[in-house]
Amino acid sequence: MIVPVPDVKGREKILEVHGQKKALAEDVKWEVIARGTPGFSGADLENMVNEAALLAARGDAEKITMIHMEQAKDKVMMGAERRSMIITEKEKEITAYHEAGHALVAMLLPGTDPIHKVTIIPRGRALGLTQQLPVDEKHTYASSFLKNNLCILLSGRVAEELIFGEITTGSGNDIERCTQLARKMVCEWGMSEEMGPLSYGKKEEQIFLGREIAQHRDYSESTAVKIDDEVKRIVLKANEKVHQLLSENSAVLRSIAQALLERETLGLDDIKAIIGHDGKTASPAEIQAQA
Ligand code: ZN
Repeated sequence: MIVPVPDVKGREKILEVHGQKKALAEDVKWEVIARGTPGFSGADLENMVNEAALLAARGDAEKITMIHMEQAKDKVMMGAERRSMIITEKEKEITAYHEAGHALVAMLLPGTDPIHKVTIIPRGRALGLTQQLPVDEKHTYASSFLKNNLCILLSGRVAEELIFGEITTGSGNDIERCTQLARKMVCEWGMSEEMGPLSYGKKEEQIFLGREIAQHRDYSESTAVKIDDEVKRIVLKANEKVHQLLSENSAVLRSIAQALLERETLGLDDIKAIIGHDGKTASPAEIQAQA
């Protein structure tokens, strides 16, 4: 939910395109669905329409209804629940700390999108998920907002490192998104003082249907090295900040992880309640003993 995505009018158009050859019930209103899907990319919207068609077919419905659309939306947003997936206790524990890290950093940093839900029920390819919901439809992003988002992306990995002393492959997607975002800040949005307000690399305009954008290099080898250095510097700086935040609040981090292990899913109010507490609900010694 961080990179620029189509706005509400854009989403409506994209939905119309993908819904053209589908049998739709009269209650399906693209305008309404477009309003309820902030943050969805073109590809997400396409998936959602196809998923709704599948659900309708599976239920022997003649037409796709709004209910199918809603169910499809949840699935695209969070992936299908996979309660039958076999996970070891250790994996579950690591996931709980990883997600607790995301949630806590998102709560602590100002101006970030609020937490909607944190869960350690596997969905899609993820063992756990922290979901943020944008309050409003943003068209521009302040660099402070993006820097905080880098921190949120890195926080799962840092939490694992702090608690278990090592990291797992579970942070692969976080790191990928973090790196991409930092690169955009440097190359597209002129947010690096070192590189200045210049655009590096030409893009092919194919944003409309959410396709990948091909980058063409239009800068020298030495500039490429500088860009890499800047991207790295920005990411490492965010990583340091997260380390500090989570170290200072490790008692709360442990409390959130424990609550996740007990209840599997926490909402915003649950997390607020935990953070509002003095953070001594679970002693570090107890957790060490379980690990
Ligand atoms: Zn993560």
